[in-house]
Amino acid sequence: MSKRISILGSTGSIGRQTLEVMEALGMEAAALAAHSNGKLLEEQARRFRPELAVLADEKAAADLRVRLADTNVRVLGGTEGLMEAAAHPGSDTAVAAMVGMAGLRPTLAAIREGKRIALANKETLVCAGTLVLEEAKDYGAQILPVDSEHGAIFQCLEGNRNRGEVKRLILTCSGGPFYGKKRRELQGVTREDALQHPNWSMGAKITVDSATLMNKGLEVMEAMHLYQMPVEKIAVVIHRESIIHSLVEYCDNAMLAQLGTPDMRLPIQYALTWPRRVPGGPSQPLDLWHCGPLTFGEPDLETFRCLTLALEAARTGGTAGAVLNGANEAAVGLFLEGRIGFLDIAERVALALDQVKAVENPALQDILEADREARQVVLAAR
Ligand code: NAD
Ligand code: MG
Repeated sequence: MSKRISILGSTGSIGRQTLEVMEALGMEAAALAAHSNGKLLEEQARRFRPELAVLADEKAAADLRVRLADTNVRVLGGTEGLMEAAAHPGSDTAVAAMVGMAGLRPTLAAIREGKRIALANKETLVCAGTLVLEEAKDYGAQILPVDSEHGAIFQCLEGNRNRGEVKRLILTCSGGPFYGKKRRELQGVTREDALQHPNWSMGAKITVDSATLMNKGLEVMEAMHLYQMPVEKIAVVIHRESIIHSLVEYCDNAMLAQLGTPDMRLPIQYALTWPRRVPGGPSQPLDLWHCGPLTFGEPDLETFRCLTLALEAARTGGTAGAVLNGANEAAVGLFLEGRIGFLDIAERVALALDQVKAVENPALQDILEADREARQVVLAAR
């Protein structure tokens, strides 16, 4: 069980919910790190008194240092600071809750200290899953999933250690705000439309990914790495209610599922308390008697092309995941700035997958290069 925790991305949706869990369970913060929200990080630092507070943005860090001058919280800035927060000797667990590929290097730094990694940052595994898991093995760092689907699968696999008995992993997918729509209806959708998720309140990037279904594609790759499963053995089922968080189907056709209210604080808590379960956390029990019917259906791969592209990249392997992810991060950025349309996200990702050649068995350098090239293709396209 975790006792002292460092959070990479403490001001984000996952970071803030992690702090709620920690407060409820009496866990301490060793280091808190984020990008540039100094006001919130100051509040968090005053409340949780970590030894270290880090902002990647150097200017914001300098400002935070002044604001926290009356405390004994040490303040650092930049990439160096992030790496120090990740590897902080005072923590047993690092919560990887940064968004995007930017989380890769700090996550590796925490792994190299042999810490427990509570991993929310799926982009890290999509880009560099093989490398990350190899290092985790070498350094004895345990990776526990925070993503609700992967947390569910983790729980459904517990007690069934013989992976040969697993027929399929089944990831549930809410379908997002545009469920049931066809391509022509999605032509004019705006940033605001895409940011309305039916069941979850999350950061902007993952909310757009949930609207394009790229999020589910990234999660298929995340599951491949975490559970060492080929893409053919991972299925996606639409489940609008987000009550069943995912399932495992065994060779005898038995299916195990994990259920709960749609509340990230539950998978976050289990990643922190594993192998134990403890009462007193902030999530609410699921009221089965009043939660209504649960429905299931097939994803529409024609309309939601991002999912199809991700499955293709998963089959290609090598740096294809990094290309897909880098292109998607850049395209979602452009969409959020109002510079491209919703359907252009998939177009640009497809273009990058087409133009940047995948490298097999990539080293970290190859992955960073694939990411850079993919972003370039997306930004240069018109
Ligand atoms: P968010 O945008 O709300 O928060 C991101 C956090 O990362 C912020 O604290 C931000 O300051 C920090 N950050 C971003 N770029 C940084 C940089 N370059 N350097 C340092 N810090 C940086 O995002 P989120 O919704 O909390 O998602 C975080 C991760 O968790 C993503 O990978 C997402 O896919 C995954 N995830 C989120 C949810 C959810 O419910 N929010 C669920 C499952 C998985
Ligand atoms: Mg998820």
